Amino acid sequence: MSCWAVIVAAGRGTRSGLSENKVFFPVDGRAVLSRCLDAFERCGHFDGAVLVLSEGDRAAWAALAAREGPFPLVKAVAPGGATRRESVYHGLLTLPKDAALVAIHDAARPFVSASVIDATLESARAHGSGVICTPVVDTVKQVGPDGRVTSLDRASLRAVQTPQSFDCKKILEAHRRAEAEQLAVTDDAMLFEHYYGNVRLVTAAGAEENRKLTTKADFDALNAKGAFDVRVGQGYDAHRLAEGRRLVLCGVEIPWEKGLDGHSDADVAVHALMDALLGALGLGDIGRLFPDNDPKYEGADSMKLLDRVMTLVREQGYRVGNADVTIVAQRPKLAPYMPDMRRRVAAGLGVGEERVNVKATTTERMGFEGEGVGISAQAVVLLKKGS
Ligand code: MG
Repeated sequence: MSCWAVIVAAGRGTRSGLSENKVFFPVDGRAVLSRCLDAFERCGHFDGAVLVLSEGDRAAWAALAAREGPFPLVKAVAPGGATRRESVYHGLLTLPKDAALVAIHDAARPFVSASVIDATLESARAHGSGVICTPVVDTVKQVGPDGRVTSLDRASLRAVQTPQSFDCKKILEAHRRAEAEQLAVTDDAMLFEHYYGNVRLVTAAGAEENRKLTTKADFDALNAKGAFDVRVGQGYDAHRLAEGRRLVLCGVEIPWEKGLDGHSDADVAVHALMDALLGALGLGDIGRLFPDNDPKYEGADSMKLLDRVMTLVREQGYRVGNADVTIVAQRPKLAPYMPDMRRRVAAGLGVGEERVNVKATTTERMGFEGEGVGISAQAVVLLKKGS
């Protein structure tokens, strides 16, 4: 069954307050239209797509395709009309004659998921139409011409989005009649309903995220506040075991015959963790921040140094998403101290314990850890923008 998409990108975007058509505007470095085409390409059901564009945006499209393309799914470009209905009609007229199903989608919804697209296509294949919708969370009031307000039953209401998928012949026929009658509609579901009496609504995972980007504030929220800004960092450290030293791991003192040698308390796990944090921020390593020839750090409590690193994290506008620490030691047995270590690290990072993992492994007596010469640790952290 030949399956096509009509992607409508001919909006003026006057509400968006942006200088160009909002579909060419980037969200986290990739244009809204590119993201939308990626989603249709990725879901793998489509033989092709018709892109509906205003004449004035042809050059911007060519530039976008050169910069972010290729977009092999786009087989044709149709001219936009005076209204959205007219634009969709132009798109439908450009489809090949053998197109059996069509998904009509507004390019200003770049977060459309494969399951959302699938749900509408499945319904259109079985019943002739499939329109994605979500429940209404706000209470909706109807205001009459005399100013009288009526509350509508929220449970019976649905907010309708795109994609809206249809049997191609049926929707084309409905559009032909609507064009002849100059019917005013806001979407294709309304048009289908007008001529065929009913339309099928469906919902699917990802429908809530499938929002339409409308105003400049929508873009600012996505770009400036760093909604996508995550950083990952990795750290590694090793210290030699020595007599007459305390053994401190993740801020917890562990009674044992030997301890780790070093300038500070030599908490190898917290050192790896600090290096992971500094790595995520692009700030080098702890050697640069706390030089080991500086007497200030002689015997220093590494948890206090972690506080200093966390101040840097906050100053850069980040917080910890999660952290995972691995300690490599043949002896002593660390399992009894794990809950305490996890608590200390979580407190140091200013997050709940569920965001921290501390684990230990031996090396089956291989290498310096296995031979009891030293202990090493590795850490991975994820930082997220925002407080
Ligand atoms: Mg160290």
